[in-house]
Amino acid sequence: MLTFPYRLSITLFSEDGAVLGTVSAECDWEPLQEWTRLHFQRRGLLSTRVEDESASVLPLWAAASGEPLCRGLRLQIEQPGWPPVASDFPNTLFKDRAGALASLLVEQKKLRAGDTYTYVLAAYPAAQTPDPGRLLVRDTSPCLPVQDGSIEEFLVRANPCGILDADDIPVFVASRVLQEAAAQTREQQGNETGGILIGRLWRDTRAAEIFVEVSAQIPAACTAGTSVKLTFTPETWTAAAAALHAHGHGEIFLGYWHSHPVREWCTGKSCTPEAQKTCVYARDFFSADDIAVMRAAFPRAWCVAIVANDTAFGLSFSMFGNRRGATHSRGFHVMEDTSNVA
Ligand SMILES: [Zn+2]
Repeated sequence: MLTFPYRLSITLFSEDGAVLGTVSAECDWEPLQEWTRLHFQRRGLLSTRVEDESASVLPLWAAASGEPLCRGLRLQIEQPGWPPVASDFPNTLFKDRAGALASLLVEQKKLRAGDTYTYVLAAYPAAQTPDPGRLLVRDTSPCLPVQDGSIEEFLVRANPCGILDADDIPVFVASRVLQEAAAQTREQQGNETGGILIGRLWRDTRAAEIFVEVSAQIPAACTAGTSVKLTFTPETWTAAAAALHAHGHGEIFLGYWHSHPVREWCTGKSCTPEAQKTCVYARDFFSADDIAVMRAAFPRAWCVAIVANDTAFGLSFSMFGNRRGATHSRGFHVMEDTSNVA
């Protein structure tokens, strides 16, 4: 249960300070709560066995103007027997909402496309309306199925890939997972393909860290892939659950991977080889659909998505995960395959 006895609004201002429009704003609190909980669990400041947790959000009033204008929002989590913890989130949480309002104002000719604008967030006391998302019956058990291990033992066998950020939970991916993803991508060239990532969560109490090991992928054999979209069908989930059971080492679902047939997309648009190299889809691209799949199927803060970027100049991998409540491109570690080492 999360309490937030306020309603929010966003107001857009033109460069010369004129009010352009106001719109109500909502926030999907769950990714913020997930991120905050994991952030403190990683440092050993919250229990990994969550039986009874409550969360609340309060406005942080703007220093100069004060209530009702906000400089951000604070999400606080309380677990019995632990001191409360909190994370602050800036108003940029609502930049997409502000952008949508700007687009509407452009349509209404109150703003010209490309004109700069600023926005403010305001909060007004209000009775809380029940969050319809909370009424859905699904597995929202926030318990962390961690096993004890040493991060040092993983680090000595790992190579970094991408930019590592201390805000992100460390993720170690077996190189075999990437090799299989690459082979499957080449096999299905031109169409999106993918799979479900499984593995384990480890806790290193000495290093005060929790980390993720992606040890295998289950090819999404029953998905309907086209050049633009991959869908996970109920059969995929049944197959994945069966595979998880067969592995039997306490593996859990950690996320999913899918390919981006960028080469195909670029050919369709007749992009020049030069344009393909700087194409926004060539690297670290995660669509609104991709974000929706993560939000619906893998909402835990330790879940990740891997994208195989299949471009005219090679195949590379990008990873995405929850950083401070939003989906971000992030770095990870590749685990060398030691099975052939004498
Ligand atoms: Zn995608």
